[in-house]
Amino acid sequence: MSQHNFEAETGKVLELLTHSIYSNKEIFLRELISNASDAIDKARIKSLTDTNYLGADSEFQITLDANTEKNILIIQDNWVGMNEEELHKNLGTIAKSGTKDFIEKLQKAKENADNNLIGQFGVGFYSAFMVADKVEVETKSNDSDTAFKWTSDGKSAYEVSTSDKTSRGTTIRLYIDEANKDLTAEWKIKELIKKYSNYVAVPIKMQVEEKNDKGEVTGNKLEQLNDMKSIWTKSKTSVKEEEYKEFYKTLSMDFNEPLAHIHNNVEWIVSYKSLLYIPKEKNMFINMDDPNREFGPKLYVKNVLILDNCKDLLPVWLRFISGVVETSDIPLNVSRELLQSNATLEKIKKGLTKKVMSELKKNLKNNPENYDAFLKNYAMQLKEGIYYESENREEIASLVKFETLQGKTLSLDEYIENLENKEDKKIYFIAGKSKQEVLASPYLAQFKENNTDVLLFCDPVDQFTLQVLKEFKEFKLISATSDEVKLKEKTQEEEKKNEELKKDFWDFLELTKNTIWSEKIEKVELNENLWNALWALKTPENGMDPQMEKMMKAMGQEVPAQKRILELNPNNSLVSAMKEEFSKDLKSQKLSEMMNYAYNQAVLLEWGEVENMPEFIATLNKFAGEYLK
Ligand code: ADP
Ligand code: MG
Repeated sequence: MSQHNFEAETGKVLELLTHSIYSNKEIFLRELISNASDAIDKARIKSLTDTNYLGADSEFQITLDANTEKNILIIQDNWVGMNEEELHKNLGTIAKSGTKDFIEKLQKAKENADNNLIGQFGVGFYSAFMVADKVEVETKSNDSDTAFKWTSDGKSAYEVSTSDKTSRGTTIRLYIDEANKDLTAEWKIKELIKKYSNYVAVPIKMQVEEKNDKGEVTGNKLEQLNDMKSIWTKSKTSVKEEEYKEFYKTLSMDFNEPLAHIHNNVEWIVSYKSLLYIPKEKNMFINMDDPNREFGPKLYVKNVLILDNCKDLLPVWLRFISGVVETSDIPLNVSRELLQSNATLEKIKKGLTKKVMSELKKNLKNNPENYDAFLKNYAMQLKEGIYYESENREEIASLVKFETLQGKTLSLDEYIENLENKEDKKIYFIAGKSKQEVLASPYLAQFKENNTDVLLFCDPVDQFTLQVLKEFKEFKLISATSDEVKLKEKTQEEEKKNEELKKDFWDFLELTKNTIWSEKIEKVELNENLWNALWALKTPENGMDPQMEKMMKAMGQEVPAQKRILELNPNNSLVSAMKEEFSKDLKSQKLSEMMNYAYNQAVLLEWGEVENMPEFIATLNKFAGEYLK
């Protein structure tokens, strides 16, 4: 027997692992299984050139055996094994590049109590010491007549002695410590295999007790714990529609059918296989608005689960997507720089985002009924994408739909398609708190008359969309209340009449300005297109809608007082009557009361708040009294 101290760096990793506050200890099994699976891969490769290599014992499998009484867990494979030199090299040192880096990061992670870092990537064989106070490795290589036994408590030293093991391969015996006793329970092992190693490409079998109908133990049998078949690694043509749907259910806990699945095998700058699902219905179990919710596809490396939710693989706005991504371009072990692998993830993320967007577009076109159902539940997230993701802004904007003045529901492309006058390159919208509110706007009259459709932006997030989406495919987004609205050219005659009207109203407008003046009004002007409205308020170009103002304030943001434009409808008989009164008596009390009334009804017309409600009601009552006389 010989005793050896661990190489300095190995000792450090061990110390960090065993003393870390690291919570996800159970990944040790994933690591040991993946080592056994690697050993099988190596044997497979050897057998290609050496046909006698496998010999009589040629069944590729990994076996587990647990002893609950003695707290021992055994993981066994009958493949390459290790000779004495390999034992020292592989289990006594960490002779891999990048290890220093990892140790530094690990150290930092420990200091910052950020234990997630270790969880994301494999920590290898030594993770066994997170759950065991002693580990024995008995191993025999094909090219050695002697078997060896490696033993350590994972502190500072290990022992190597010869062993009487006669069969080829490696047997790892973990003496599970008191705190982790439940790791030898059959149900627990089954759970861990299902969770982390279900798709490992060799059978993982465990010795379980065989029972008869009465529940009496009649013997032992080997039971396979993993499924092995991972549908994302298969070719698209070999997977049935039903299998896709079935897998979606187990993956997402959503028992409705998804809108679509996206199955891809990419071999380019990075290679990966992915199977993503777009939901259709709302998932009862998921709150999309919960900022702490884990999201993102599962990440597998070489058939081994690395992360349940890898949020580095999709942008936040795509948090409704579930799925699986598998790549071999990320190391499973500790030995490579993590930063480097993040660059890989970033590339995959770009690719996946593109795929999802094009799948959504396909559904918008070819699967409108289901797509509309999807939009009902997830338009909010798409609109968030428009706001945050400047890179794909137009592309995402083309995926949402809006209700319109003419009672349709259209995407921006469809709206443009329907436009009679495309040369103007204008998309008209009206924004407000609700459909009812925006439809009452007097500014829509001329659009009805002119048979021009207007998009109704009445979802609260639309206010944010409007902040960033000023243009779509070179079409300018213009508010129906804007000065820029020009549905038809004025004739010369109309132009002339307009000029006269302006002159005629000039001093009345001045008086109005002086009477109802406040810091909220920027200017007072005439608008002949206000239908039957008396006065109306609108937002100046580049100004902020009252809805947006309210929302910003609710979010705790400082917003300066927003100025509005007050418009008078010269075609309204009440306006004419007021002007008449004005020409008779400049200082008319009635006129000033009428003006206050006209202003407040303009505020109410856009569902705003009247400042002095009792006074306004008193005025109304006075008017009503006159009416009854
Ligand atoms: P990694 O798997 O990333 O190389 P590990 O710490 O998990 O790192 O394992 C260290 C090394 O020990 C492996 O590279 C392998 O050479 C050897 N090893 C571990 N388990 C086995 C096994 N079951 N059979 C043969 N060799 C093994
Ligand atoms: Mg390993």
